[in-house]
Amino acid sequence: MIPENKIVKRVAVYGRVSTARQEEEETIKTQLVATREFAAEKAYTIIQEYIDEGWSGTILARPQLDQLRADASKGLWDAVLIYDPDRLARRYFFQELVMDELREQGIETLFVTVAPSKNHEDQLMYGVRGVFAEYERMKITERFRLGRVRKAKEGHIVTSRSAYGYKLITRKGKLGDPDFVQTHYEIDETEARVVSMIFSWIADDRLTTRQVVKRLQKEGILPRRSKRGVWSTSTLNTLLRNKTYIGEAHYASSYAVVPLRPRVKEGYKKVKKTSRKMRPEEEWIKIPTPPLLSEDLFERTQKQLKINYELAQRNRKNEYLLSGKIKCVCGNSRAGEGPQHGKHLYYRCTARVHAYPLPPECQERGINARIADGLVWSKVAEFMSSPELITKQAERWMDSRTTKATNTAIDIEPLQKEVAKLEKQEARYVNAYGEGVLSLEKLRELTQPIKEQIASLKGQIAKAEIASAEQIPSQVLTKKEVKEFAERAATKLSNLSFESKRAIVMDMLDKVVGTQEALHVYGHISLKNHVKYETDDRDCGPAQCGEVDIV
Ligand SMILES: [Zn+2]
Repeated sequence: MIPENKIVKRVAVYGRVSTARQEEEETIKTQLVATREFAAEKAYTIIQEYIDEGWSGTILARPQLDQLRADASKGLWDAVLIYDPDRLARRYFFQELVMDELREQGIETLFVTVAPSKNHEDQLMYGVRGVFAEYERMKITERFRLGRVRKAKEGHIVTSRSAYGYKLITRKGKLGDPDFVQTHYEIDETEARVVSMIFSWIADDRLTTRQVVKRLQKEGILPRRSKRGVWSTSTLNTLLRNKTYIGEAHYASSYAVVPLRPRVKEGYKKVKKTSRKMRPEEEWIKIPTPPLLSEDLFERTQKQLKINYELAQRNRKNEYLLSGKIKCVCGNSRAGEGPQHGKHLYYRCTARVHAYPLPPECQERGINARIADGLVWSKVAEFMSSPELITKQAERWMDSRTTKATNTAIDIEPLQKEVAKLEKQEARYVNAYGEGVLSLEKLRELTQPIKEQIASLKGQIAKAEIASAEQIPSQVLTKKEVKEFAERAATKLSNLSFESKRAIVMDMLDKVVGTQEALHVYGHISLKNHVKYETDDRDCGPAQCGEVDIV
């Protein structure tokens, strides 16, 4: 704990602004100026400043805040000075979490706008203030949302940006005024022409969305807002399904979610919910709009899009042994590309797909899929049928047999499952705490027994593993037998179906990184049974002793 009346001399300053927009630059300047002035007044020395720009206060994982928390134990400063509790976090619980953590390191958190708490009553007041501020914010957000839902239900446009093809006419005057105008859409003639063109390119010319992107670029038709200045297929896919064009806009048809498989796996995200999920259609709020296309053209386009999708699926059925595992040296994955671009199948760097239709940054060329598949597979087969490996397998199998016979070995798999289950449960509680559903105390109370259970189970697993490792092999195969096994394995492996080969690749390989010149294969060997070595010259059937696992 922090001793009372501790003299603060050295401080770290923390600042945050929620958006990186120009006008917000003033906000951070004002914040910093006020904070520095405050420090000077109190005769604090600012040792370091940690500033997160463009970060929402609802997210706690911010790079500079993390750095500050990591530096807290280094004894560089005695206190953290922040303009306002809001700058630390929007949620009171998050504020408390960080302040608690700093307090444990003997570091005080000071605010320019809030006097430091001298006693418990003060601390309580601070807490109450934080909870109320949060409550107020939620109330405002909720009121705002309900207002939008009500307006939408009355049939009025509630978006702040119009759909492409329309101009947004915002509300003028007050309800009841003679010249009152409700917010609505008006057709934007120039954009509307582009919309009908795009639909007709799909429905009549049978183009794919990618080909539409290319044609738009060739004709110099720019999207309304885009950093890259080109249309993206995902924008087009949304546009092509937007019923606003046949007179029916929708409100609340989708909602924001955290993406399941983010394309960029980086540590920090400024916005968590970057993906959108559709609501069931009966929950959509329909708003009438001036139609811009005929229903016939819209329907024909939907049909063609479905055909395009099915064709793309069929093309994707080419057999790519390494898909999902092969990467480019630039770090992007490589994806199989069908024979429509020539007679060969290639693994191409997806930097190209992401940049399309602009030229990609990565200049690596495609890798011939048949050649790469063949090379990698022969390596895998060679490895799996090597005599050394087979000897090891046989020894291991013997081991397991003697172990099973002599000792009622503990099966560790159910233990591991139980651990995973408990860890999930713990994560759920931590999430609930993060959402503000649980207090820190309640969190500790709930997770403590889980932590103990996990530790005990892990102890049991470790013991069981040591016990099985101590078993001594009782029988070993002869060299001749090993050689025979190896030959059989090699034949078997070369005759496997594509599906079986693919299953082995998926299981054994971590990644294949390659250029046209060289492929690097990274793998681990799993304990699953992939190949059954059948034998008739030993006194047991294949099901008993013939299963050799890859170790
Ligand atoms: Zn690349």
